[in-house]
Parts: sequence; structure tokens; C-alpha cells
Amino acid sequence: MDQNFLHARIIHIKDAAEKSAAATNFLKYIRITTDLVFPRRCPFCDGYAEFGQLLCTTCRKKEKELLIKEPWCMKCGKPIREEKEEYCLACRTGRHLFTRGRSLYEYREFAPSIYRFKYEDRREYAEYFGKQIARYLGPEIRAWKPDVLIPVPLHERKLSERGFNQAELLAVSMGKALNIPVLPRAIMRVSDTLPQKYLDPAERHKNLQNAFKIGISSVKSKKAVLVDDVYTTGSTIDACAEVLLRSGAADGYFVTLATGKGI
Ligand SMILES: [Zn+2]
Ligand SMILES: [Zn+2]
Repeated sequence: MDQNFLHARIIHIKDAAEKSAAATNFLKYIRITTDLVFPRRCPFCDGYAEFGQLLCTTCRKKEKELLIKEPWCMKCGKPIREEKEEYCLACRTGRHLFTRGRSLYEYREFAPSIYRFKYEDRREYAEYFGKQIARYLGPEIRAWKPDVLIPVPLHERKLSERGFNQAELLAVSMGKALNIPVLPRAIMRVSDTLPQKYLDPAERHKNLQNAFKIGISSVKSKKAVLVDDVYTTGSTIDACAEVLLRSGAADGYFVTLATGKGI
């Protein structure tokens, strides 16, 4: 390689590094200024987080109580009572289309946070939640060797009403922390279904049949991790996993922020 060319390359690389350091500092400055003007809300109690922090001191201690502790179902990750059981009742008696999945928090006590996150536009919570999923569930997620994260989509109408898809924000934050690419348009929600919470399992299944279609990104031979806010009976995750598997995906795992207790 020519000496002058090499010298020019080194200057170019140094210049790019300095520019990126300046960009990082600038972003830090913006973040500090924004925190001063609009202090962040704690994702657990909605009080103000301390300056430069993502949650308040009290909730830093309380958070550990919300984390799902062993034993949990080896299939769906719901906490179960009996250590000797490998699976929860639902996974022992029914069939799921996903390979397996995990959730971070137990839903009951955590429900108000999810409500604010989704319905009171606390989209800022996603940064913290995504980081915590990566921190606590990261080793297991990495062991699955996933190629992509795919958020469970919202229907266009709901997306324009809410302005954001909480599952996509979680996936982006997780993806950044775990260095896994996110495919936000891999699955589309084509029918605007009734809220699942008012339906029994059979109705849920019917409600979700044909609700999802494969989107614009190719999932062929990919190991995918579906991302959503809450796991209830697994019917939504199953419906998405079915779409992925039918389109040639190698595997469909899932991660949700919260889940209910198993039996
Ligand atoms: Zn708090
Ligand atoms: Zn289970």
C-alpha cells in the first residue's frame, strides 16, 4: 500500500472518530438538558426519576420483588408453584407454536406501569425496560442464538391512535442493548381484533385467526424472537409464530415484559 494513501486513510479514520466523539458528547448534552427541562418519570411509580437516572431510588430496591423468580415454566416462562413440575398446566395440556419464551416481571403488581406505558404515552419507559430485559434475560436470549427481534405489531388504526407501538419500542431498546437487529415490519396486523382480555381461550384463538400476515422483511431460515409487552394465554404469540414458521423462519421464541402466574 502506498505511504501517502495509508497516511490519508489514518487521517480519515481519526477525523471520523473525533466527529463521532463530538456527536456522542452532543447527544449527552441534549440528554442532560432534556432531563432538566422534562425530568424523566420512574417506570414503576411514575414519580420523578433522579437527575440523569431512569428510575427513582425507592423503586430501585422494589424492582427486584417484581422480577419473575424460579421455578418457571420451561416452555412459556410463567412462574409456577411446584419445583418438580417442568411446565405450567397450560403448557402441559395444550400445544404452543413458539419454541419457548421468557418474561421479566410478574404482571399483577406491575400492571399500572404497563397501563401508563401504553395508554398514557409514557413511551420513555421503553428505554429502561429494554435495558432490564437485556440485563436479566440477555444470557438466555443469547443462548437461543437469534438472528432478529420482531415486535408483535399493532393494527394501523391503533398505531395511528396511540402514535407508537410499545412492543416495537421495547424491541428497539433490547436490540440496542443485545446487539440484535430488529425487523419492525416482518409481521403485519391485518385485522383489528377485539381486545383479547375480554375473551376466553377459544374465542381468543378465533379472534386471532388470520389477524396477522407476513410483512415486507424476509424471515426465511431466521431464528426470530417475538417481542411484546404482556403474555397472557400465548394466543397472540402463537398466531405470530405460526405466520413466521409458515414463511420459512427457523424458530420462533418470545420475550415479554410481563406475564401472569401459571398453575
Ligand atoms: Zn419509582
Ligand atoms: Zn407454560
